[in-house]
Amino acid sequence: YKKEDSIVFHNGEFINAYDVLINPYSQSLHYGNGIFEGIRSYKTANGARIFKALEHYERLCYGAKAMHIPVNYSVEELIEITYSLLKKNNLEDAYIRPLLTTGADMSLLSSKESFLTIQCWEWGKYMGDKLLKVKTSQYQRPNPKSCIVDAKVTGHYTNSILATNEAKNGGYDEALLLDMNGYVAECSGANVFIEKDNVLYTPPKGNIMPGITRQTVMDICKEEGIEVVEKYFTLEELKEADSAFFTGTAAEVVGLQSIDDYLFPKKWETTHGYNLMHLYKNEVLETRKTSTTL
Ligand code: PMP
Repeated sequence: YKKEDSIVFHNGEFINAYDVLINPYSQSLHYGNGIFEGIRSYKTANGARIFKALEHYERLCYGAKAMHIPVNYSVEELIEITYSLLKKNNLEDAYIRPLLTTGADMSLLSSKESFLTIQCWEWGKYMGDKLLKVKTSQYQRPNPKSCIVDAKVTGHYTNSILATNEAKNGGYDEALLLDMNGYVAECSGANVFIEKDNVLYTPPKGNIMPGITRQTVMDICKEEGIEVVEKYFTLEELKEADSAFFTGTAAEVVGLQSIDDYLFPKKWETTHGYNLMHLYKNEVLETRKTSTTL
């Protein structure tokens, strides 16, 4: 994404990324009042396909509405623009980053002006393929009574940055964050599932980002007859799990090796997570045959 010749969509035009001008008085810079998304497109047998484009752009619009930021495009237009952008950048396998920023307004009211920038670049599996060594963070996820946790507000991600810095500086790969009640919430940029006695558990919506990958994985589980229970669980319960994995658009499905140096006992290749990692890949590439179409 540092490529100087990459084309971005900015305020109605396709222009060079380095020609984008951002107003220094933008409220997004000063107060973190902006909304973004993280989307992927995949090179499928039928060409580039943006995975769950509708769900991602609906979440962008939901976040914008929640923060009183206008969106000057319909979801259909946003999807169309994104396909054009991929073409202009000659990309099929890509990570797509729409960003809605606000105008120059130093009051603490949401600016009535908004600007949409969409960027895309080639990005491999964000957390890699190897099993992750995860550390519980000293930072909790933002309290839903203080902000709208299910909106992808730019400013909320200072919490993710604190937790990730802490984990990486401690020699770990990623951070696990608890919610304000001390229950397991999610990773800094992905959701968490654990497996215990053949059943999967994941925290319910409410104190987490309701991940589109999380939902996709639960849908696959339903078709595959894998039991998933949405419930709050503690860090102690997580440490007694047989295995665990993270889900997210950037990370896809990735297994955990350990939490706070406790090793998960079940061999990754024999877990539901491993199976789902492959089923998810087949789903995004449109090669997965669901039980209903068989
Ligand atoms: N949790 C957080 C905090 C995130 O930022 C993300 C990425 N949007 C996720 C979970 C995973 O969500 P998704 O599967 O929609 O990418």
